[in-house]
Amino acid sequence: MGSNLFDLTGRIALVTGSSRGIGKELAAGLADAGATIVLHGRNAATLAATAAEFAQRFGQERIYSYAFDVTDAQAVAGGIAAIEAEVGPIRILVNNAGIQHRVPLLELDVADWQRVLDTNLTSAFLVGREAARGMLARGEGKIINICSVQTDLARPTIAAYTAAKGGLRNLTRAMTAEWAGAGLQVNGIAPGYIHTEMTQNLVDDEKFNSWILGRTPAGRWGTVADLAGPAVWLASDGSDYVNGQTIFIDGGMTVVV
Ligand code: NAP
Repeated sequence: MGSNLFDLTGRIALVTGSSRGIGKELAAGLADAGATIVLHGRNAATLAATAAEFAQRFGQERIYSYAFDVTDAQAVAGGIAAIEAEVGPIRILVNNAGIQHRVPLLELDVADWQRVLDTNLTSAFLVGREAARGMLARGEGKIINICSVQTDLARPTIAAYTAAKGGLRNLTRAMTAEWAGAGLQVNGIAPGYIHTEMTQNLVDDEKFNSWILGRTPAGRWGTVADLAGPAVWLASDGSDYVNGQTIFIDGGMTVVV
């Protein structure tokens, strides 16, 4: 163990869906702690722009980027193999890629249900399985699955997302059951309502905004910066005996009615 429990220098971290949004900020947090970062997404142009920005911020030699679809088993196997061959062993995996789809249950198409399940849940199985092959052989690795308050709490119009994020917590436990003994720590981070570009319309909606402020014991929206500390902790030696937990970073929303 290094002198700094939270130092990630020299460790390779793949963050899925890090070309933008929360994944990008999680990747920046891990880079700040010293990690070598593999950025990821499907859109090549967005990925290239983020890679250029990160290279400026953290140094070209610590930034890589790979594009593949996390719902495509073959593409995932190829992507992980390429990263391990060209960058090095993946020590930290953040399963962050995810999508939302809002529609009442009676109007939810099977295809949309499947797409949401594939992107938010099956993806973590596929990427986690491929990354774990190397981690298990090396006897070390950190996997962080990005859940949600919908891991615990339902809301109308987001049934598929709620089912997927609930499943992701149990997948985190299943991975722990099989892999903890071999030296891997698998945990979840469940962000609450985070003020991002994506949620700006909800912040601007007076009714929704005041509901969030009243419903959140901390009395404010979360920020992407609020997520970086827990992510660095769960990626570091500081969490070596933390196994199968899902940490809610939600200002207390899920513990108070
Ligand atoms: P976002 O801004 O829409 O970013 C999603 C990222 O995932 C992008 O990089 C996207 O890139 C990638 N992605 C989506 N589908 C993919 C696929 N099939 N294969 C590969 N990459 C894919 O989303 P976000 O709001 O930051 O959310 C990130 C995670 O946090 C999600 O798991 C979400 O459920 C969770 N979360 C978000 C909030 C919130 O308030 N925003 C709250 C709780 C939890 P491409 O489109 O280029 O592929």
